[in-house]
Amino acid sequence: MFTGTGTLLSLAAADALGAATEFKTPQAIAAHYGQTITDYQPGSVFGFAPGEATDDTQMTVATLLGYARRSGLEGVLAALHAWLEAGPPDVGGLTRAALRFCALDGGVRAWQASGFQGAGNGGLMRIAAVWIAGFRGSALARESAAVTALTHADPRCVYASVFLTAFLEALAGGQPYAAAAATALAVTDDFDARAALLDQGLFGLDTREAHAAFKDRERQARAEVRARVRSGLSGTLTSQSGFVLDTLEAAVKHAGANSWQACVEAAVLLGDDSDTVACVVGAIAGARGLTVPSRLLPTLRLGHTWPGWQRDWICTTQFPALVQAARQG
Ligand SMILES: [Mg+2]
Repeated sequence: MFTGTGTLLSLAAADALGAATEFKTPQAIAAHYGQTITDYQPGSVFGFAPGEATDDTQMTVATLLGYARRSGLEGVLAALHAWLEAGPPDVGGLTRAALRFCALDGGVRAWQASGFQGAGNGGLMRIAAVWIAGFRGSALARESAAVTALTHADPRCVYASVFLTAFLEALAGGQPYAAAAATALAVTDDFDARAALLDQGLFGLDTREAHAAFKDRERQARAEVRARVRSGLSGTLTSQSGFVLDTLEAAVKHAGANSWQACVEAAVLLGDDSDTVACVVGAIAGARGLTVPSRLLPTLRLGHTWPGWQRDWICTTQFPALVQAARQG
């Protein structure tokens, strides 16, 4: 059974639950909201109302709107740009810098301009869209690498995304949690992201320095992704920071719990980049077939209006047609 729409609802609801606790400490969250958070709360620092999902889900939806344009990676880039141009309440720094180039290699250029330091979670947070759009197998890995690198071209970001979408595919195929992670790590180990990005026009003459940096760092990046997935599986959590490997480890740790609420709440209560960690957890939980508590669905919305989406639209009424329009093949 294909669970694309369910996964999209799951990641959106999780993101909206995390919106209120973003940047806060666990102590402040406990003092303000109590020991459990089962419904949408006020308090988003970006002014998102209860039930509104943040940039993570908005960019996932924008990616799907891009696939619905039927013009491949160029369509995805144009759709992400349309989202940015409409002035969303929150945009990641590297995402903004990359999309401003209005070019397939904008993410590579932005990474180069960061001195090859930028490795935030802004690609990982939206990459479930590629699996939801229907890419599978080696096409899924290739597309995940390219769509991530549109804004986040560090090999740690690229390989984290390749892992995540392969993990979603394995989980939706019915593999148990740890086995699915092992399957996805094998995909990650075998995948040549640099070749995929070259083939798709993300490295070129003007970005030879970035190509060399990627080549130098990709082996280490794969090893770091593997180490963080394994530590997450063993219950370790380093931080819920916006660093891509922290987010990946935290999501892998949380998303193996027994219920949707237990998976997502763990991310929400720990604060910091809680909306993004929760969003990635929501994607994994959705691919596992865990369903969002029904109380969270009637008011679930996205906190931004841009071409293709209205802020007051209810996700449950819009997502099925969106996923259908985005489906590839
Ligand atoms: Mg966010």
